[in-house]
Amino acid sequence: MNPRPYLVGLVGTGVGPSLTPALHMTEARAQGLDYVYRTIDLDELAISPTRIGEVVSWARALGFDALNITHPCKQLVLAHLDDIDPAAAALGAVNTVVFDADGRTRGHNTDVTGFAHGFAEGLPDAATDTVVLVGAGGAGTAVADALVRLGCLNLHIVDLDLTRAGQLAADLGTRHPHARVMAAGFDDLPDLLPVSDGVVHATPTGMAAHPGMAFPAELLHPRLWVADIVYRPLNTALLQAARAAGCRTLDGGHMAVHQATDAFALITGITPDAERMSKHFRSLVVD
Ligand code: NAD
Repeated sequence: MNPRPYLVGLVGTGVGPSLTPALHMTEARAQGLDYVYRTIDLDELAISPTRIGEVVSWARALGFDALNITHPCKQLVLAHLDDIDPAAAALGAVNTVVFDADGRTRGHNTDVTGFAHGFAEGLPDAATDTVVLVGAGGAGTAVADALVRLGCLNLHIVDLDLTRAGQLAADLGTRHPHARVMAAGFDDLPDLLPVSDGVVHATPTGMAAHPGMAFPAELLHPRLWVADIVYRPLNTALLQAARAAGCRTLDGGHMAVHQATDAFALITGITPDAERMSKHFRSLVVD
């Protein structure tokens, strides 16, 4: 056991049901590490998310080694960090803050790396020349960045909120000039999906509380890979329809596990056993 236990927190609102603390602590135990990971729910503590800078300072003073940061603080926290990993800074969102031995704070984004690692794991060799992303919210923004970093050359972004899709396309295109990033409407999907390599779904549709699919199953075809980032449940209506249509699929568990494996590695300097963490994760969620 390490002489001083790791102390890590997850800061955000509604973080109580998160599986991340269990994932980190169980893997740490298997690695022989003493590791405490607690949720810090700003709603329950009646602390405004705009005070995230103070929360980071308190955590540092109280001896935390790191924080995971989630909704609604991923953007707000940026202004309160000493150093930010260039990819997270370009994206404008941080989900992991590590306190260095000298007390400096460094921000990272393991949503981006988590999607990329999960994609490489679950859909190795999948073509990414032309991809459609449905959902341009917080998670979709990280996924879009990951897709371009994975080599996507033509990315079409669809969202009910056309302004949001347009903004993300413009931002991403500016950051990654080698890629063509375009906003598109739902009406464009019948033209786009037949000529695309894959589609990533990043809206809440398909979650237990928002059942259904964000676009019609008839648009799926066997040459298309389909990735869903929803993981509650894992086997969403979209993935069921995609398998029935003969598509290769990737469920949301891959991104969820790898955002945790990547954060664990940043916090401890130890590469966790991703397969073991995935098995643990899949034992905790509904298929
Ligand atoms: P969000 O609220 O920030 O964004 C959702 C976006 O989807 C919004 O822009 C909204 O306009 C759009 N939208 C909603 N319904 C739509 C529809 N039918 N068609 C097109 N666009 C639609 O949410 P978020 O934080 O980005 O999370 C989205 C989903 O991703 C959730 O289900 C969440 O659980 C999941 N998620 C998974 C992981 C993972 O690790 N696998 C990580 C983060 C989020």
